[in-house]
Amino acid sequence: MASLESDSPAYTMAVRQFEIAAKRLDLDRDVIARLRKPDRAYIVSVPTRLDDGTVHVFTGYRVQHNDILGPFKGGIRYHPDVNLGEVSALAMWMTWKCSLAGLPFGGAKGGVACDPTRLSRQELQAMTRRYTAEIRNIIGPEVDVPAPDMGTNEQVMVWILDTYSQHRGHVVPGVVTGKPVEMGGTVGRREATGRGVVYLVAEAAEHLKLDLSRCTATVQGFGNVGSVSAVELAKLGIKIIGVSDRTGGFYDPKGLPVDGLLQYVSQNPELAGCPYGEPISNAELLELPCDILVPAALGMQITGENAGRLKCRILAEGANGPTTLEADEILRQKQVFVIPDILANAGGVIVSYFEWVQDLQNLFWSETEVIRGLKRILTKAFHEVLDLSQKEKTDMRLAALMIGIRRVASAMHWRGLYP
Ligand code: GLU
Repeated sequence: MASLESDSPAYTMAVRQFEIAAKRLDLDRDVIARLRKPDRAYIVSVPTRLDDGTVHVFTGYRVQHNDILGPFKGGIRYHPDVNLGEVSALAMWMTWKCSLAGLPFGGAKGGVACDPTRLSRQELQAMTRRYTAEIRNIIGPEVDVPAPDMGTNEQVMVWILDTYSQHRGHVVPGVVTGKPVEMGGTVGRREATGRGVVYLVAEAAEHLKLDLSRCTATVQGFGNVGSVSAVELAKLGIKIIGVSDRTGGFYDPKGLPVDGLLQYVSQNPELAGCPYGEPISNAELLELPCDILVPAALGMQITGENAGRLKCRILAEGANGPTTLEADEILRQKQVFVIPDILANAGGVIVSYFEWVQDLQNLFWSETEVIRGLKRILTKAFHEVLDLSQKEKTDMRLAALMIGIRRVASAMHWRGLYP
């Protein structure tokens, strides 16, 4: 079993980011010691009967980093690379993300190490229900509220809701967010992360005085976040010249038809074989000349090795942790304007917050209300981060981390150490 501290590049990166921001904030030594580690980390075995009759024991995780500001909140990821270190890093980033957006939530993340594309619907359902049963005592609307992340979707959220509700004896819609609207979900949650990325790109472009209608963009990842980002960028008149998913990418300097791409992925499991543009690799996609690059796939894609070859003006991090610390340094020198993950992709958890509020009140909002609220929170956070980065002469990532961490640290001072 990987040790939290030493064996995971993602966790090492998250802790290092935290330490840099904490030093800059001159945080109390005791507070730093507490926030470096998660409150709790659960590892569960998830025995699942496969379609061939055999039982496979998957490993599942739920890491609760900090709940000083409210119930734990964060997605559940199904991916072969899921491990304790990665989930712990993602949980820590959720704490800063919720705090930066001013949401009354702490940070958590969960996951099961599996390849969901190779499981049948029945296998996926059985695995999800058993995983839920294993963590049911540590989740709940007032305790810890999961949501979709990479490899999970609305259907997985409903299986979690149903399993949890079966154990409680009554339906508990507020136990997860990212549900379908018919099941107590909110309008606008599915699009929220991608929409948020693009609102922030528009804010950044205004700050940099870029004319978006003359800009080009590339998007890595064509799942929920990547595809919605591409749609919303195109709506602003931005030419999408490259897209990719785990099977590879496609490039057309004259612009790819976003509607055609969406139609293709609605009929095929991946982008592979799509008839538009020239095929390129994921690594090549990142280095294409463009104004806006949106990494919306895995972590650690932009590294000390390739950052020097990036040719974008704005890097809008739809994914969590796509840029390593070494890359950050290079991007700073190249004056790439980075919209850091905890800000760029916060739209998802912001609308999750709206969903949770609606579930607790049994009162549902219109799409206009959801969009207005999302824009208001993101625009405010963007300007807070930009102002601090200018005042402190830091990059956007450090400023965003400083704001997120400062609120958590201040709440810790108010509450004190128990007992
Ligand atoms: N998984 C998403 C994230 O990383 C959403 C979390 C949520 O809605 O709770 O921000």
